[in-house]
Amino acid sequence: MGTTTLIPLGTSAALPLRNRHFSAVALQWAGRLLLFDCGEGTQFQLLRAGLKAPRIEALFLTHLHGDHWYGLPGLLATLGMVGHARPLTLVGPHGLAACLAALPGMDAQPFPLLFVELDEGFGQGIVYETAAFTVEARPLAHTVFTVGYRFQERTRPGNLIPDALRHLGVTDYAHLRQLKAGHAVTLPDGRTVRPQDVTGPSKPGVSFAYVTDTRPCEGGRLLARGVDLLYHEATFAEAHRDRAVETGHSTAREAAGVARAAGARRLLLGHFSARYPDPAVLVAEARTVFQNTEAAMELEAYSPHENEEDVASPPQPDTPRL
Ligand SMILES: [Zn+2]
Ligand SMILES: [Zn+2]
Repeated sequence: MGTTTLIPLGTSAALPLRNRHFSAVALQWAGRLLLFDCGEGTQFQLLRAGLKAPRIEALFLTHLHGDHWYGLPGLLATLGMVGHARPLTLVGPHGLAACLAALPGMDAQPFPLLFVELDEGFGQGIVYETAAFTVEARPLAHTVFTVGYRFQERTRPGNLIPDALRHLGVTDYAHLRQLKAGHAVTLPDGRTVRPQDVTGPSKPGVSFAYVTDTRPCEGGRLLARGVDLLYHEATFAEAHRDRAVETGHSTAREAAGVARAAGARRLLLGHFSARYPDPAVLVAEARTVFQNTEAAMELEAYSPHENEEDVASPPQPDTPRL
């Protein structure tokens, strides 16, 4: 299993505080690095987190409001300065490439940018994949075209069962490797052993959903279905629910409703309005609906594997309201 760590780099809504930065979340997976959103100052937060920007292989932008992407030109300029040569994948709403191209100096970018632009009207799809994981996008419900993302590690094969191997007389190391890789082997006496004869149940991969900025919506619920860790915006408390509706945001309680409806295991709240220097009120409101809720702390490392307390009694998903 790849070790997956989520590091919020910025948890602020459109008005930053001295110690609260614009939206960005880093996801480390087995030494690889993905970035979700890139608000102004993200490259400094990467430095503070001890994460090396040249290791980022793909960057996923939710929408083109400044608080979610103004850090990108600066990050690209820095990567150019340090001689970065590897292609960088940029996923985001249509218009991203044109916005970047309009900036003086961007035409001299010394490494390839691979754009995956999503058009308004985009329904759902895998926007990035490797042999080990996929990233899915779905539209959210904000004031401009916005997408959320779900990182999903692929299902991993189960372990070989020593008793079964012994019973069938499989001892050769090369045979073990082939079985582990999912291939049948033929033993010296002519018998064939299939992987399913000697392998335990497959293991579901870890998952993470990034849902911001949005009203509670179908796209968010679907991205978060059964997810290990859901990062959902919680810009306002219930007292300002009218503002949330007006500005296309969610209250903490609404974010918790999404986590609950989707059967998520754990909820991290983020994208806090500056009117809550202490997000404790937001956490308290959310917990009335979904107990396993925390406020995302910038530069804190969260592991989607940390679900021991929930494994015994996983939350029951509500009937999805689509
Ligand atoms: Zn925002
Ligand atoms: Zn926004």
